[in-house]
Amino acid sequence: MLRCPVRGCHLALTREEKRVVCARGHSFDIARSGYINLLQPQERRSKNPGDTVAAVGARRRLHDRGVTEPLSYGIAEMIDASSGDVVLDAGCGDGFYLGSLKRQAGFDAHGVDISIPAVEAAAKRYPECEWIVANADRFLPYADRSFSIVLSITGRMNAGEFRRVLRDDGRLLVALAAPDDLIELRGVGRDRVGRTIETFAKDFTLVDQRRVTTLVDLDSAAVQDVLLSIYRPIRAQPAEAMRVTFSLDLLLFRPR
Ligand SMILES: [Zn+2]
Repeated sequence: MLRCPVRGCHLALTREEKRVVCARGHSFDIARSGYINLLQPQERRSKNPGDTVAAVGARRRLHDRGVTEPLSYGIAEMIDASSGDVVLDAGCGDGFYLGSLKRQAGFDAHGVDISIPAVEAAAKRYPECEWIVANADRFLPYADRSFSIVLSITGRMNAGEFRRVLRDDGRLLVALAAPDDLIELRGVGRDRVGRTIETFAKDFTLVDQRRVTTLVDLDSAAVQDVLLSIYRPIRAQPAEAMRVTFSLDLLLFRPR
């Protein structure tokens, strides 16, 4: 199901012991922790490909406190996955959502992200899923119609590629930061629902829409982690304990 990411190639990748290789001889390493690195040399050289080690660590500590569990339940309820599903999380980060959902539903799970620290953290904690490092902006490195469910959880969106890798009877869940997400730390955000539905309208029909919100009392260390995980710590003063809102707009689409 994996495809070579080299532009103009896109042949099937075959798994060998420590690498995957296409028929044209393009070869990519399987890391010791089990993920496959499909970044090409020019992408590896780029300065800041995705989340840093610090941001990944901060986000994982927040997940481990249970802060995002209600959001995960909301996503699980909406996708209603079963063990027969084949699920892609595009922009999987540290793998929390995909890894947790797989442990509940038992489906075949695949995650892709451009950040090596994020995917490494995912692979170490959830070895039962397949994890890929790749730049998915232009090409998702999977065969057409590979998945019954595609997740995009506050990640970069590529409607055409989501449609290509999704089966005709599949479903796509897009999670966006809601306007009240982290409102205590960054003010009211934009409502991105309308524009996102428009972006997907050519390939997808919206079938369900919900907002899932949770308010959490965080100590100062956890607030610091929120600041680290979302944007660079812009506050000069130390973070203080406070109640923080986490809120996602969930959109469920079916292919047209
Ligand atoms: Zn190739």
